[in-house]
Amino acid sequence: MRTPDLLRLPLVGRFFRWRYSRFVLQVPLLLVALLALYDGFMGRQLAPKNFATVSVWLHYRGFLVLAIAVLGNLFCAACPMMLVRGPTRFAKRFLPEFKWPRALRNKYFVIALTLFYLFAYEYWDLWASPWLTAWLILGYFGVAFVVDALFPEGTFCKYVCPLGNFNFTLSTVSPTQIAARDPEVCLRCEGKYCVNGRVETPSGRKTLKEAPNAEGLRFPGCETKLYVPQIQSNMDCTLCMNCVRACPYDNVAWKLRAPGTEAAWARYKIDVVWLGVLLFFAGFMNAFAMVPPYYQLAERLSELLGTRNEALLLSTIFVLWTGLGLFLTLGVAMLADRVSGVRASPLKAVRFWGTGFFPLAFAMWAGHYAFHFLTGWASIIPVTQQALLNLGLPVGEPDWTLAALVPENWLYPLQVGILYLGLLAASYVLFRRARERNHFLAGGIVFTYFFLLVALALWVLAQPMEMRGTLLLPQ
Ligand code: SF4
Ligand code: SF4
Repeated sequence: MRTPDLLRLPLVGRFFRWRYSRFVLQVPLLLVALLALYDGFMGRQLAPKNFATVSVWLHYRGFLVLAIAVLGNLFCAACPMMLVRGPTRFAKRFLPEFKWPRALRNKYFVIALTLFYLFAYEYWDLWASPWLTAWLILGYFGVAFVVDALFPEGTFCKYVCPLGNFNFTLSTVSPTQIAARDPEVCLRCEGKYCVNGRVETPSGRKTLKEAPNAEGLRFPGCETKLYVPQIQSNMDCTLCMNCVRACPYDNVAWKLRAPGTEAAWARYKIDVVWLGVLLFFAGFMNAFAMVPPYYQLAERLSELLGTRNEALLLSTIFVLWTGLGLFLTLGVAMLADRVSGVRASPLKAVRFWGTGFFPLAFAMWAGHYAFHFLTGWASIIPVTQQALLNLGLPVGEPDWTLAALVPENWLYPLQVGILYLGLLAASYVLFRRARERNHFLAGGIVFTYFFLLVALALWVLAQPMEMRGTLLLPQ
């Protein structure tokens, strides 16, 4: 049976082959970012009533996981930060271009940045400060501009952007993926245009590598250097659709696939697997920092260390928890390897068994973000009205009672459902791995570990949780 290809749908294929399609997707998010900047800097500094905090911390994150679950990494496709590309192309005429250091061409740098970002989120209560949220947006645009101006295109998305790498990791469970329609056509393809780019000159077709300055219709290739016939994973794919436009043989598909199964087949590098493992434990920590047991633990630690320095206490808990998670994962993966009679290195063991963390990481964040999104879903209406009123636009008086609609009864059951689905997908990954080794006991050991982690996560999510960024009106 032929795999369904979304680009064959009427209008969808035409839209994505159109050279301005990404720009059209980026404009709405650019407008949202501009309004968030305006309201964050100039509006009332009350998080549940400010467009910057509500749009970024409640809605953006909620829609992001929803889009990933339903279709794919749409938020990278529509990322307004890549609109710095126009100005950076101009700046590149006057600036030298550097190569991104070889030592940083992996996910470790972005892992470090992600940890710092999560620490900053808790320590500076970013969710509670419209002003800091606006600075974060501005800073993000600034860093994107600098990295894009000084390094090859795609460097920022692949090696620097914590948000993009978060999206890449979670989109490994998405139900769609870029692929070649006919691999035979790719074998005969002379220019590998999907990755090298294409320029149609009066003297014929060339790759952008061969003729970087040639006049003619230009179609950039994949900035993150994915070669379409070899793509096995959504990792590093921004869904920019450059490959679709660059391929002169119309041989790129946006195919449907079974959601949550990628990790069972793909072979990730070890840094990518660590990113998946870390995102699970970081997602857990992010939720844990909002419940009473966290504050009790911090109190105990404070007595033990004889300090009330919040940065020290927070970083100690962060390091202990993520360190413990990485250490336990290493131990369980090695045990599973030994039981199945394999004497590979510890890192190879993590590379083999740790891919099950990808669906778990998605479920952890989706469950957590669903809580934030649903506790303030309707608040986007009055905060948008308020921000537009501040701009002098006649949009009517905001109804703040909308901001306090919380569907409490089904929040937890929904989170339980999401985490069980994540565990189910992770079990499938482990089943495939165990079958490869022909040793189901080894798979069972890793499954028990995952099951305990999910049980612990459900316990955290069952605790009374801070409704950050939600307006709590008196009853
Ligand atoms: S996807 Fe298109 S451009 Fe890329 S190798 Fe295949 S035929 Fe060539
Ligand atoms: S060009 Fe690369 S990043 Fe863009 S959609 Fe194609 S494979 Fe994904």
